[in-house]
Amino acid sequence: MCYSCQFHGTASELAAHLEHCQYEAMKNYIHQTEGRFNELVQALKQKDQEINFLQAMLGQLSIKVESLEKTVEGMHFRAQSCA
Ligand SMILES: [Zn+2]
Repeated sequence: MCYSCQFHGTASELAAHLEHCQYEAMKNYIHQTEGRFNELVQALKQKDQEINFLQAMLGQLSIKVESLEKTVEGMHFRAQSCA
């Protein structure tokens, strides 16, 4: 059997097939491409995790900024009442 394209045949048919099988010729290229593809999938997963982390951090910072804004507004208000 040809492992590149699943061709089935006798030993001599297989030998003849392997000389012309385009998949067999591209075996290394396909293997490398698969490896690269898996690397990209991993990198994409990592980016998703980073984005989730940054989104959570952004949410926390927004809450902090909002509360700081209120504090500053309160200080302005008190400063005006004293004047
Ligand atoms: Zn083949």
